[in-house]
Amino acid sequence: MAEATKEPEESLAGENNSSDRNNAGNSLNFIEQIVEDDLAAGKNGGRIHTRFPPEPNGYLHIGHAKSICLNFGLADKYGGQTNLRFDDTNPVTEDTEYVDSIKNDVRWLGFEWENEFYASDYFDQLYQFAETLIQKGLAYVDDSTSEEIAAQKGTPTEPGRMNQYRDRSVDENLDLFRRMKAGEFPDGAKVLRAKVDMASPNMHMRDPIIYRIKHAHHHRTGNAWCLYPMYDFAHGQSDSIEHITHSLCTLEFEVHRPLYEWFIDQLNIFPSRQIEFARLNLTYTVMSKRKLKQLVEEGHVSGWDDPRMPTIAGIRRRGYTPASIREFADRIGIAKRDNLIDVGLLEFCIREELNKTTHRVMAVLDEKPLKLVITNYEVGREEIMHIENNPEDPSAGDREVPFSREVYIERDDFMENPPKKFFRLFPGGMVRLKGAYIIKCDEVVKDNAGEIIELRCSYIPESRSGSDTSGINVKGTIHWVSVPHAVEAEVRLYDRLFSVENPAADEREFRELLNPNSLEVVRAFVEPALVEAARSEAIRNFQFIRKGYFVLDSDSTTDKPVFNRTVTLKDSWAKEVKKG
Ligand code: ATP
Ligand code: MG
Repeated sequence: MAEATKEPEESLAGENNSSDRNNAGNSLNFIEQIVEDDLAAGKNGGRIHTRFPPEPNGYLHIGHAKSICLNFGLADKYGGQTNLRFDDTNPVTEDTEYVDSIKNDVRWLGFEWENEFYASDYFDQLYQFAETLIQKGLAYVDDSTSEEIAAQKGTPTEPGRMNQYRDRSVDENLDLFRRMKAGEFPDGAKVLRAKVDMASPNMHMRDPIIYRIKHAHHHRTGNAWCLYPMYDFAHGQSDSIEHITHSLCTLEFEVHRPLYEWFIDQLNIFPSRQIEFARLNLTYTVMSKRKLKQLVEEGHVSGWDDPRMPTIAGIRRRGYTPASIREFADRIGIAKRDNLIDVGLLEFCIREELNKTTHRVMAVLDEKPLKLVITNYEVGREEIMHIENNPEDPSAGDREVPFSREVYIERDDFMENPPKKFFRLFPGGMVRLKGAYIIKCDEVVKDNAGEIIELRCSYIPESRSGSDTSGINVKGTIHWVSVPHAVEAEVRLYDRLFSVENPAADEREFRELLNPNSLEVVRAFVEPALVEAARSEAIRNFQFIRKGYFVLDSDSTTDKPVFNRTVTLKDSWAKEVKKG
């Protein structure tokens, strides 16, 4: 059962995984402990070699990021190496577009592989392994249909049945297998099965299929093969061929481990060790490539890199940094049982980082911003205000922000009939315009329909930020953009892709669970410095004061920047969870 970690703080304390960490005073996770024990015992000549083995049938997601950080992180920590191996044994679903995106994503996360390998590079070798098994009487060609094979397999409580093909002679098997390779038989006519144990309590040991006929074009080997190895036969042997010492995979492969070891024993090849860890599941999203692919193909999202997607490409476009993802992977740790991690923890990681690094800028996010006319400020006058880029980082310096007689503010920052404790602007009230002056609202101007079209205000000349001698204290500070200097931008406000916490565990069809409000596009007016930054592309992430963290999107043009909201300033959902 999945267990939810509601409060990000809880997972920060590492409670989630505490039972999987030893309590000897160090904080090794259980895999590091195994590695250290192996090193201490002098196994593999003190060598650590891991691999990250994606199947190139989709884009990588945040779950893969966890596996990448684990595999590359272990090698880094213990002076070892990591291979990138494409598990490309299924010709039908794989594509070079995916290969390229996977390489790009791994590098973006900050890792570099020792070798780039493809399971398809081992097709000859794997084929030889299969012949070896046949020669040892440990594999046979079976002519049964897949339905027959399934029916003969038995159930977990009932042993399977052996069929007549199981007794074929070595010579007959060799001959048939070679003819399968030569393309004499159509798809599905025959398979090669390992002869293990039809009565094993482990269903994976009941003579698993290791080769199937598939007359299909492969993205690397072209039409050279019409016979392809099954996952179980390709994966472990590829580990062995590469002399991988620790082969880390997710928990669902635990039941495959006896077979993994059986092949190693029977073929007498390098004894890679398989270790399983819990898969990462994240709230309000799905992590299966098949489902993510469906969302892309059916147009529920704009592509694999839609900023709402849990793909690395999507998260990157959303404004996450590689460091924030590595930090996240570190904080969730490595567990031995499946769990569901609150997406709030991922957001916490990026918020922490962006708080330290981003410039604070002003953007008025409003279809119809409110114009404020400062009647006692000379027509045509302009002033340059110096606003601190980042109060968390004095070395970030300050920025010139033009101020003039007319500024935009957000409509929400004004109320004609304010409730108590409303510290923003109201008729007769005063606020500070961030980094500029204190102003007072003198008059509300409405059109014939009664809609407010502008506020006429006056400013206190002695209240200029940095040299305020006015002696006036105001409770509210609001952000603004000078009307003649304002630049129009498009801002995309993203929310959770799904409206339920664990869509994968819901009986309803997952596409019915999509959050219909996961994207809101708004018009914004931003200060000119943002546009310059956008043009140079040197800086991409910003804090929009009072609004959240935003990143420049690749859809930006030189005339119109587009920003994605990465994350709000505070976790607004955490409060709702508490309230509820
Ligand atoms: P999917 O089921 O989404 O297609 P997969 O496991 O088939 O995922 P692969 O490309 O085969 O995807 O995975 C590459 C590696 O990443 C494997 O070692 C796999 O165990 C690991 N991995 C995949 N998903 C997760 C996850 N959610 N958390 C941790 N590791 C994962
Ligand atoms: Mg897989």
